[in-house]
Amino acid sequence: MSSVTATVEQPRSAAIDWDAIRSDFPVLDQEINGHPLVYFDSAASSQRPRQVIEAIQRYYQEDHANVHRGIHELSNRATVAYEGARVRAAEFFNSHSSDEIVFTRGTTESINLIASAWAGTKLREGDQVLITEMEHHSNLVPWQLLSERMGIELVFWPIHEGGESLDWEAFDRLLTPKVKVVTCVHISNSLGVINPVQEICRRAREVGAVSLVDGAQSAGHRRIDVQAMGCDFYTFSGHKLCGPTGIGGFYGRWECLEAMPPYQGGGEMIEEVGYTQVSYKAPPHRFEAGTPHMAGAVGLHAAMDYLDAIGRDQIAEHDAELTRYAYDRLSDMEGVKIYGPAGERGAVLSFLLDDVNANDLVEYVDKRGVALRGGHHCTQPLMKKLGVPGTARASFYFYNRKEEVDRMIEAIGRARRLFGSG
Ligand code: PMP
Repeated sequence: MSSVTATVEQPRSAAIDWDAIRSDFPVLDQEINGHPLVYFDSAASSQRPRQVIEAIQRYYQEDHANVHRGIHELSNRATVAYEGARVRAAEFFNSHSSDEIVFTRGTTESINLIASAWAGTKLREGDQVLITEMEHHSNLVPWQLLSERMGIELVFWPIHEGGESLDWEAFDRLLTPKVKVVTCVHISNSLGVINPVQEICRRAREVGAVSLVDGAQSAGHRRIDVQAMGCDFYTFSGHKLCGPTGIGGFYGRWECLEAMPPYQGGGEMIEEVGYTQVSYKAPPHRFEAGTPHMAGAVGLHAAMDYLDAIGRDQIAEHDAELTRYAYDRLSDMEGVKIYGPAGERGAVLSFLLDDVNANDLVEYVDKRGVALRGGHHCTQPLMKKLGVPGTARASFYFYNRKEEVDRMIEAIGRARRLFGSG
């Protein structure tokens, strides 16, 4: 296992020019339906800065060939670029080694891989997986599949009414030595709840369970240190942190990765193949069968550099201030119910109006250039628990401004005058 040596860029200490940063995002500079775009759907997918787009273009124009197998110059360059992205990701998440970073298509594929290759080979019938009630389908359905296949029991860690937090008394009751995996979302994409993952992982360890943190909504929004978090697995998606689609991955603690058999078979992941026998490479390559997404890795590397040049603490502060502002403005309106915590939260606001349904609202504000999302946000059981079919959701990132929140509030006011009682 090789250790990480590259240095992390220092965050800027001077005041940040958020307007200049916003101008790095060409897609934001356009009109939608005759109005300047307000993009409040970054929880679904963030936008990309010029720097990431150019890095991908440069890779295809100058360096592309298949990785690892070739010994010609272009193949070497592509290999260096791909493996360099792994070292960068290790640094970004502060894993002990770049060998603990596995590239996949994103969070969904990462969780499926871990559920199948780790839990699917280590757990026995009757073992329990403890899972919160606020999970995205991608951290629920893979466990349901496993449960169907192996007779594993899924135990649900309840949330409090209204979804403001997890019920810790229930956790104390449910966390027994029968639990072999504890898994939770770091920042909920539907509620904005920030779960205390360090504490959750510590408690999981106490009963000998492995911990998996779904980091889809946290990876690009705050400083992540997987060693301090104490998790066994942490998953992420590149497209939610200013990187390309189709690339993401996970951190896996070395002892866990080493104990896992391959997930898929094919080229790149083998040591030696005969007609009847095969030996596999060590992690992480054991889990990366086939030609990898090199251009994606290059873009991911550029995205991580970009976020660190701003500073992830600064991004987190910006997120928090903007979300607080939006929360206050929205809750000043009559007949608005906001789901999730009133205090500290991720850059996500799920809400409902008492007189306009969520889909009508989202459709209407789009006509005013405001991109919100309406529906169950891939958390159908959570919506049922909250007693709603879905919500409207505004989600923010560092390229958003308070003026855009004002535009959203104004558009919501208009929707109410048109459809509702306002
Ligand atoms: N978990 C959470 C909390 C998410 O918000 C998402 C994306 N909406 C996912 C998992 C799945 O991510 P991806 O579609 O990139 O695999």
